[in-house]
Amino acid sequence: MSPISPWRADFPGILALEAEGQTYLDSAATAQKPQAVLDALLGYLASGVANVHRAQHLPGERATRAFEAARSKAAQWLNAASTEEIIFTRGSTESLNLLAYGLEHLLQPGEQIVISALEHHANLLPWQQLAKRRNLELLVLPLDHTGSIDMQQAARLIGPRTRLLAVSQLSNVLGRWQPLAELLALARAQGAFSVVDGAQGAVHGRHDLQALGCDFYVCSSHKLYGPDGVGLLYGRREALGKLQHWQFGGEMVLDADYQSARYRPAPLGFEAGTPAVSAVIALGAALDWLNGLDHTAVARHEAALHAELLAGLQSRNGVRLLGKPQLALASFCVDGVHNADLAHLLSEQGIAVRAGHHCAMPLMKSLGLSGAIRVSLGMYNDGDDLRRFFSALDNALDLLR
Ligand code: PMP
Repeated sequence: MSPISPWRADFPGILALEAEGQTYLDSAATAQKPQAVLDALLGYLASGVANVHRAQHLPGERATRAFEAARSKAAQWLNAASTEEIIFTRGSTESLNLLAYGLEHLLQPGEQIVISALEHHANLLPWQQLAKRRNLELLVLPLDHTGSIDMQQAARLIGPRTRLLAVSQLSNVLGRWQPLAELLALARAQGAFSVVDGAQGAVHGRHDLQALGCDFYVCSSHKLYGPDGVGLLYGRREALGKLQHWQFGGEMVLDADYQSARYRPAPLGFEAGTPAVSAVIALGAALDWLNGLDHTAVARHEAALHAELLAGLQSRNGVRLLGKPQLALASFCVDGVHNADLAHLLSEQGIAVRAGHHCAMPLMKSLGLSGAIRVSLGMYNDGDDLRRFFSALDNALDLLR
């Protein structure tokens, strides 16, 4: 039986798009929001806003309480050792840029930063810039034919000059869990810092960061069914303590004079200025909502849908999958058809999928492609969405071939 989503009705956005004739299959770019998140956002904004951490008045105390409650929820959700290990940023991109600046003073010319061949630009360009600034080597771990980091090569390449390893948990193009436990063990053996880009992985299942043992982990609220404009940076307490401060302004100092200042430790020392208060509170609501779900049921639904997506793609002539996707998404190209033309014809039929390089240009180039189509799934998608997609795909391919 084709998968039916029991959560679809919780998402006004998906119903609104459906009413407009749109089939949304682009959740890896950003996810629709459940009603609980909309209620929390509007509820906060409509009940009298205030700035956080500054005012003694009632609205200020209320906003601060709700804001800090969201931090506790995030800490619990990721199983951080304490709320002080959670910094609110604008998103994964900002978290990674913060780290590339915050760790700069610890890296010496000639040392190595190690990333992988599948990284999103957000987990490539900040390190590339840092490498240029500090005269470091940026070493790229190759992939195997499935789209996983090749562990034999990783074991050979990660060595005494490696000072930092930054890798994705789940690829936004290839849809595979990466062998994090093994990679982190290799980094640890060299005393290197480890950064995990959880932008795609965070929403799938629960992740115990203490058990994982990374120094830093980043993710974005908007891919977690929460609002945009906010992200998380988790850092192990000792690792956070080594970061240099990066943005300077209100609420991040202990003491300031005209010529010098003393900065707060994490998290507030890394949250200069007014944060995205409403978005953070609504992210808290998204985490509550995720916590309330039957995770086994969600995983089963997502697996069934993904299997149907793969089977449909594999059964079509000329459709080539990129790697061997395990969950959440599949990227493909079609022999003799340009991905932009295909995306255009799909869009004309109300199918919202992503085409292009997916902010992973070096990966695309290494695969000899200028781009690909990516279909990505949220828990609100169901078998009907896939049927509409495949019917539109067949129409488009009839026209293009
Ligand atoms: N890393 C990966 C793997 C991603 O897929 C994305 C978002 N596409 C990012 C980082 C950046 O996330 P954001 O745009 O929310 O900062």
